[in-house]
Parts: sequence; structure tokens; C-alpha cells
Amino acid sequence: MKWPRLARSVVFKVTLLYALVFGVVSAGSLVLLYAVIAAYTEQALDLAMQAKAIELYPALLVGDAAAAQTLFDKHATAHGRDDCFYRWVAADGRLRARSNVASWPPLDALPPDPTNRTAAPVMRTLRLAGPEGAIRETRVLSVRLSDSSLLQLGLNLAERNRLLGLFRVTASAIGLAVLTVGILAGRRIGRQATAGVRLVTRAAERAANGQFSERMPATTGNAEIDGLSDAFNRMAGRIERLIGEMRQVNDNIAHDLRSPITRIRGLAEMAITPRAGATYDPAESVGSIVEECDRMLNLINTMLDISEAEVGIGRSTMLEFDLATVVRQAVELFQSVAEEKGLTFRAEIKGPALVCADRRKMQRLLSNLLDNAVKYTSRGEVAVTLAGSREAVRLSVRDTGVGIPPNEIGRIFERFYRCDSSRNKPGNGLGLSLARAIARAHGGDITVASRPGEGSEFTVVLPAASARGRLPAESARA
Ligand code: ADP
Repeated sequence: MKWPRLARSVVFKVTLLYALVFGVVSAGSLVLLYAVIAAYTEQALDLAMQAKAIELYPALLVGDAAAAQTLFDKHATAHGRDDCFYRWVAADGRLRARSNVASWPPLDALPPDPTNRTAAPVMRTLRLAGPEGAIRETRVLSVRLSDSSLLQLGLNLAERNRLLGLFRVTASAIGLAVLTVGILAGRRIGRQATAGVRLVTRAAERAANGQFSERMPATTGNAEIDGLSDAFNRMAGRIERLIGEMRQVNDNIAHDLRSPITRIRGLAEMAITPRAGATYDPAESVGSIVEECDRMLNLINTMLDISEAEVGIGRSTMLEFDLATVVRQAVELFQSVAEEKGLTFRAEIKGPALVCADRRKMQRLLSNLLDNAVKYTSRGEVAVTLAGSREAVRLSVRDTGVGIPPNEIGRIFERFYRCDSSRNKPGNGLGLSLARAIARAHGGDITVASRPGEGSEFTVVLPAASARGRLPAESARA
């Protein structure tokens, strides 16, 4: 993975954030703890040194230099001569007593003493260069006595500094460990949070390679990703279905065009083959060829009409008119056809039923439904009803025909789908697809209720003109 891409990844950002939070919090608390320990130990040493000074006061106050020297030697030996010193200097600068300071730097060269004439002790930390040149950090107490002589106590801080150093090493190790835990936790949480995204990515990559049957797990344990997974699965399902439909449509087109083209070819061959003595009329073949071509053109045009309706109907062809006029015209046309077949034709038109629609498309929709009703009914009646309200216009075409089996009713609106029982009737299985595409393009829909052997009822519901944005009335356009 290239650096810029890595830097942009969520896992990297979450890891960095965790590392920062853990690092800052642990470093902050360890530094604070260190400061508290350093201050505390310094204070403890100061108190111990002041206690020691108080212990020495009686001998110094009586001005007994020999007693002071004995006390200094005793304390210095007990504590370790290298680790402390005691020094008593008279007001005129004369040295009155001091512990063995052989291992100490020349104490006379101590920085100027800041004590004033009050008896308050002054504590200082000095960096003294030892005889071997090594720096010796020393805590020095200076206190002026009542006779203006100066008592000085020094304590080597090496041991305390060693302990603080040990604490620093331990704290650094703890800080590093906490930082590592932070990095690992951040990485893990980042990876967990993006696990679902990786799943979707993999599924999308497989889909990009054409495997649309692949689905994401419905539950990933992460609500946001579950939503994404659900949306992805629905999308993949829809694409899969569409591809399946496209294949089916392609197959159907190929199949539906092959038969007429084969027939046309046969008829054309007959027309050009000389037949001695046979009474053969080439005009008849040519007539049949024209019929076949018309059928093919009809099929292709209907396909184009469906696609056009699915894309949407242009506003320029939409007019406001009374659907009752279209229904009356259709009734006139189909009544005779139905009656010729021995069917009763009934029409119940409760107009006006104002719609904003493409009139030609409405005629197409209605004639497809009426044509089917007559075609698939051998006895009984065909009835068309129209009723309009302020909200919607309802058009229904009912027949007492063969009906549609429940297992096929869900597919009759698919392109080229024809029920098994209808295969002996003329048709191409596109009429209902077109009817539904037209109804939907007008903001409505079409539904069917049917009982095999008893009949079917197709219902189209369209929004009434008053419920849609107003369009110019048909008469105004004309
Ligand atoms: P077709 O050209 O086959 O009529 P359609 O798309 O109009 O194509 O109809 C699809 C199928 O739905 C038909 O083949 C038929 O099986 C069934 N169908 C449509 N209308 C009716 C009806 N009124 N009664 C029974 N079956 C019907």
C-alpha cells in the first residue's frame, strides 16, 4: 500500500488518534507523577536537614566548637562522609568546625550565601564539581545563627536522583507499553469499524466482475453497515433482475423475429423459384410478406413505445381532457367486435373524468385492455367502467373469460410473457407491458384481479387533473 493511500485510510486515522490520546494521557500523567515525586522527595530531604540543624543548635549556641566538631563527625560518619557535609563558619568568616570534607569540592568556594540576618534557613540545590571532576548535585541548607555565625549542611542528591532516574526509565517503559496498547487498540477498533466496508468493497468488486448473485451478509453486527449492506443487496438484486429481464427480452425478441423472418424467407424463395406449369400467384406471396413485415414492425414499434413510456412522457403531449370521451370512442369500436363473438358488452361511464394525459397513449392503453378482454373471453360479457373523483380517475375492464392462473398472474406485465393457456391465441405478450408503462408514466398504475375459469378485472387508477399541476386544456391547445 502506498504511503498517501495508507495515510488516507480510516484504520490509519483511528490508530493515529488512539496513539495520540493514549500517548498524551500516559505521558501527561507520568510527567505529573514524576513532578510530584521529585517535589515530595525534595521536601522530605529539606525537612530532614532542617531537623538535623535543629538537633545541632544547642552545641552551636553555646559556641562550643569542639562539641560541634564531634557532632559533625558523628553525623557525617553515620550518614556517609561522601554523602553529606557539615560546616560552621563564624561571623568573621573563620571556620569553627566541619565534618571530613576531603571527598567534597572546596566548600569555601560555595556560591555567595543568600542568608540574611534572620534565622530562617535557606535551601538551595547546587551543582558542585567533585575532586574527580564529576558533578555532584547537592542540597545545601544555610542558616544564620543568633551570633551571626553560619551553619551549612550539604546532602548529596545522587541517591535520590538515582531513584528518580529509575522512575524515569520505568515510566518511559510504561508510557511505551501504553502507547503500544493504544496503537494496537486503535488499529483493532479501526479494522472492526471498517470490516463492513471491506465486505461491501469485496462484494462490489465481485459485482463489477459480473457476479451479481453475490450478496452481503444481512447482519454484520454494525447497524450502519447493515443499512449499507441492505441497500447494496437490494441494488445487486435489482441489477441481477434487470440483467435477467434483459436476457429474457433479448431471447424473446430473437425468438419472435426468427419465425416471421423464416416465413418471409420461405415466401420470397417461392416467389423467385420458377415453377413450370404450376398455377402460382407471386402476388399472394408478396402480400403475405407484407403482412409478416407489418407484424414485425408492430412488435418493434411496441417495444420502442414501451421504452419511451418507461423513460417518461413529455409535457408537450400532455393535455387536460375528459377520459370519458376516449372510453366512449373505444366502446364504439369494441362493442361490435364483442357482439360479433356473441359477448355482451356493457359500459358504465360516470364522467366527467378529467385527466392530464397523452390522449393517444390513453387510447392505446384502453384498447390493449379491451382487446385482451374480448380475446380471452369466449362467453359471457365484457364490461368497462369509468368513474372520476377530485383525486383520481378509475377505469376498469372486466370480463368473464379464461382468467389467469395464480402462479402466472405476477408475470403477465413482463415483456413477452404469455400464459400457457394463451399460446394458441394471436399476440406477442407486449400489450400489458405497454399498458402498465403508460399508466405509470402518467403517475398511476394498473392492477389485476382474476379467477381462472371465471374472469379477470384490470383496474387503472390515474391521478385526476385537479390533483396534478394544471396543464392547458385540450380545447385551448387546438
Ligand atoms: P398478449 O399479446 O399475449 O395478449 P398481453 O401482454 O396483452 O399479451 O398479455 C399477457 C398475457 O396475459 C396474455 O398472453 C394472457 O395470457 C394474459 N391475459 C391478459 N389479459 C387477459 C385477460 N383479460 N384474461 C385472461 N388472460 C389475460
